[in-house]
Amino acid sequence: MLFKEDISPAYAKELFEDSEKVLKFVADIKWENGFVCRNCGHTNYCEGKTPYSRRCTRCKKEESAAAHTIFHNVKFPLNKAFYIAYNVCVLGNEFSSYNFSDQLGLNQMTCWKFRKRIQNCMLNIDNKNKNKTKIQTILMADYK
Ligand SMILES: [Zn+2]
Repeated sequence: MLFKEDISPAYAKELFEDSEKVLKFVADIKWENGFVCRNCGHTNYCEGKTPYSRRCTRCKKEESAAAHTIFHNVKFPLNKAFYIAYNVCVLGNEFSSYNFSDQLGLNQMTCWKFRKRIQNCMLNIDNKNKNKTKIQTILMADYK
């Protein structure tokens, strides 16, 4: 599969340290072609309550940056989730959930579940958009 060259290690490191930057990163990919409300199809929005979320100006439904991405309903800091995603999908590191648990100070089962989610997405990704990098594609894998 062909992907655009991925983000630089220096930029990845910035994202590992800052959940808000991760939210901006996913919001930029998700809405790169503009906002469309999932509830009513309207394309005008204003800022929502959480960082980088968007709120439809017609039906008032708010969508967080992480919703409908691989971070959907993730309950631990997104910089840590991004660290796991980047290691598994871009660096191809074979870290176990125990390694991630030690490195990130998270519950091992939490790491196991999220690592599994990424691996499942990697099996199913369909690289329709050659302008996206591997990490961008995985983050937008329509997680269910
Ligand atoms: Zn709407």
